[in-house]
Amino acid sequence: MATMRAMVLDRPGTPLVIRERPLPVPGPGELLITVSACGVCRTDLHVVDGELPFPKLPIVPGHEIVGRVAAIGAGVGGFSLQERVGVPWLGATCGTCPYCAEGAENLCDTPVFTGYTRDGGYASHTVADARYCFPLGEQGDDAEIAPWLCAGLIGWRSYRMAGDGKTLGLYGFGAAAHILAQVAIWQGRRVFAFTRKGDTAAQDFACSLGAEWAGASDEPPPEPLDAAIIFAPVGALVPAALKAVKKGGRVVCGGIHMSDIPSFPYSLLWEERHVMSVANLTRADAHEFLAIAPKAGVKCEITRYPLERANEALLDLREGRLQGAAVLIP
Ligand SMILES: [Zn+2]
Ligand SMILES: [Zn+2]
Repeated sequence: MATMRAMVLDRPGTPLVIRERPLPVPGPGELLITVSACGVCRTDLHVVDGELPFPKLPIVPGHEIVGRVAAIGAGVGGFSLQERVGVPWLGATCGTCPYCAEGAENLCDTPVFTGYTRDGGYASHTVADARYCFPLGEQGDDAEIAPWLCAGLIGWRSYRMAGDGKTLGLYGFGAAAHILAQVAIWQGRRVFAFTRKGDTAAQDFACSLGAEWAGASDEPPPEPLDAAIIFAPVGALVPAALKAVKKGGRVVCGGIHMSDIPSFPYSLLWEERHVMSVANLTRADAHEFLAIAPKAGVKCEITRYPLERANEALLDLREGRLQGAAVLIP
């Protein structure tokens, strides 16, 4: 019998374990994909730590999947065997709830999420709903493209929510920020990077990608900013970012989970400053970003880990030891 390998989370708070499983057969509407690379996202840490409610258990994490079509389920059109495809966080939506009906499928009432409520890409193979898979063409390295599938897509949605201002602050200079900084600079915007205090490696990294200024997250930027995006899961950054934006400025929280936001004086929000969160992605976001990223010459800085070392990759992300993104190679 053909088999596959997967790193499995049996219950939150425990390490992933490698398991051999029977190779699945794609059902109607599904693709079986041979995974060639899967990025490690901060959301995976939230799943592993039990900070997101009701995961499917056991679960195979991973929602930044690049692979090739190995088998095509009944009724699937538009994909061919061996075609390179990407699988994102949004695994499926209902298509009929009020949110789906008005084009906000990212807010669907009964969504399915890859690597959270259905098995994801920390594996040699995965099965995905073909309607939520994207053709990736043949340009670029599989592992270097993998972080596009979440850090890129949800980063892009956050970036659009931040508006058209010329000056943009990025709090937490990890996978998403390093991608978005490249897009923003390509579009002629000015980028200001905020990192943990004393993280000069991340500050130098931001400047090497074209950020105009980099400093600690409790430092004021050299001038008030049009907008800021918070990628770090730290609630205290919300008042910090509100202080950094100008009148009418926007603060966008790009993560799925954040520590509590400390109370702050109304004067920080006053003068029409906005705070908002970004949830998930729509397929339209993905099509936009996947068209723009190659034009902008987005190049991901990655560290590769063999699939079996997923726990180590998660730990390195947790400890802030990574520059850019971790990517698992089965
Ligand atoms: Zn829906
Ligand atoms: Zn993610």
